[in-house]
Amino acid sequence: MISIEWGNIVIEIEEQVIKVIQNMRQDSPTDKESGGMLIGSILTDSNDFVIRDYTFPQKEDYQSRYRFIRREKSHNALLQKKWKESNNTVMYLGEWHTHPEMDPHYSLQDIRNWRRLLRKSKTFSDYLVFIIGGISIYRVWIGSRENGDIELVYEGAYNESNKFN
Ligand SMILES: [Zn+2]
Repeated sequence: MISIEWGNIVIEIEEQVIKVIQNMRQDSPTDKESGGMLIGSILTDSNDFVIRDYTFPQKEDYQSRYRFIRREKSHNALLQKKWKESNNTVMYLGEWHTHPEMDPHYSLQDIRNWRRLLRKSKTFSDYLVFIIGGISIYRVWIGSRENGDIELVYEGAYNESNKFN
């Protein structure tokens, strides 16, 4: 479990979420970008939240070496299913995708997409989390739906948990 303190909230990311990103990282020259939703729950009586689930690339998505475009329909259907199965406790909390670089940075396209998601997503959370999985490390950003600010909050090597930067 990765635990990120940010302002007065705590964001936890369970190991299996990092694991799936690690498994899909583009460590071979022919690997394409992958991505999906981050899914989890807001803990009662706080703004703290835990990311424990995800969606992964569906056949309708567009995947190339330098681009991943997630189509809404199939991922939303998976989210609906998980919402029902969890007795309406899990929800959409952000996005993950991979990059073919050791040390991942967001592209102009990424930041535009993240800003759009902060404005348009339907979820109970005040924040969204964005993860880019590079080849050697991954980075985590948090975006505020209130003011649109996006901040880098964590970077980690795969297989290492609870280590703050
Ligand atoms: Zn990207």
